[in-house]
Amino acid sequence: MKTKQVKAYGTHSPEADLKELQIERREVLNKDIEIDIMYCGVCHSDLHFARNDWGMTEYPVVPGHEIVGKVTNIGSGVSKHKVGDVVAVGCLVDSCRTCNNCKADLEQYCTNGWVGTYGGYDKHLDTNTHGGYSQTIVVDEEFVLSVPENLDFAGIAPVLCAGITTWSPLRHWNVGKDSKVAVVGLGGLGHMAIKLAHALGAHVTLFSRSENKIEDAKALGAHEVIISTDESQMEKAMGKFDVILDTVPYEHDFNPYINNLNTNGTLVVLGYLGPVAPPLVTVPMIMGRKTVAGSLIGGIAETQELLNFCGKHNIVSDIEVIKMQDINTAYERMLKSDVKYRFVIDMKSLKTS
Ligand code: ZN
Ligand code: ZN
Repeated sequence: MKTKQVKAYGTHSPEADLKELQIERREVLNKDIEIDIMYCGVCHSDLHFARNDWGMTEYPVVPGHEIVGKVTNIGSGVSKHKVGDVVAVGCLVDSCRTCNNCKADLEQYCTNGWVGTYGGYDKHLDTNTHGGYSQTIVVDEEFVLSVPENLDFAGIAPVLCAGITTWSPLRHWNVGKDSKVAVVGLGGLGHMAIKLAHALGAHVTLFSRSENKIEDAKALGAHEVIISTDESQMEKAMGKFDVILDTVPYEHDFNPYINNLNTNGTLVVLGYLGPVAPPLVTVPMIMGRKTVAGSLIGGIAETQELLNFCGKHNIVSDIEVIKMQDINTAYERMLKSDVKYRFVIDMKSLKTS
């Protein structure tokens, strides 16, 4: 197979900082689209994967699955996009396309295993896939999304992971006008959840441990903030919510929030809570036919639906644009939640390095 060498940023070991390296990209095949990457969002998964925190990383790693760029070349069988289009690639670059979930536009639950944008298996080059911290990427047209032209191209990048991770459960649990939605945690996911639930017409509440998030949450579209460490506030909000999205990506006890669900309400866990979840207190679930559920990103059609929704409602992420060379500092700041609310890499910085 014919390939091209391109510049990327990645690492060969869990301990090493990310630095510039060369990777191979295939020349476009019949259904392929070559994308010149303009912006790539920085997701918590990027850091965890680069550092092998989940024990499954193969090196070298080139992270990045919130990709926005311009089409520079297409295969002869491509019909969905043309050269010059601004397009996006999220967490998936392929799936089996034949299982029941793939046929139902749920590629993220492909029973034969979907191919991650990085760290997946690249069947063309018989190696692991490399993500968006690079000059270019080549992706099958079925996994390439259209970006509404009215949106800020840097700000839309995090919608490809942080956005769709919150959008998919909002849609699955039919959030709309009159829904009462609560969001736990105000980070990359949480801030998108507030914006999207608000735009869907829901009444939106943030659960936060700290008073100093109140103003920020309201500016993003939250109608209320409940301080989760204040027992009287938590008690007042008993039985109040139809859907609660828990976006906190580390070990914590989600049981208190079950009390805040209405009858038939659902608590959706979106972050990775470690290998062992907290023991579930079942009485409040049984007494109100409540559900504790999980949800993973979203399918390709649903991600396009979200991009179109963002275009219509003029929604993008709140971001801080960085240079590729700043990524290691950005990781350290991300671990301290020192970003409002997502870093996005301007990939021009890699081309000129
Ligand atoms: Zn992600
Ligand atoms: Zn499948």
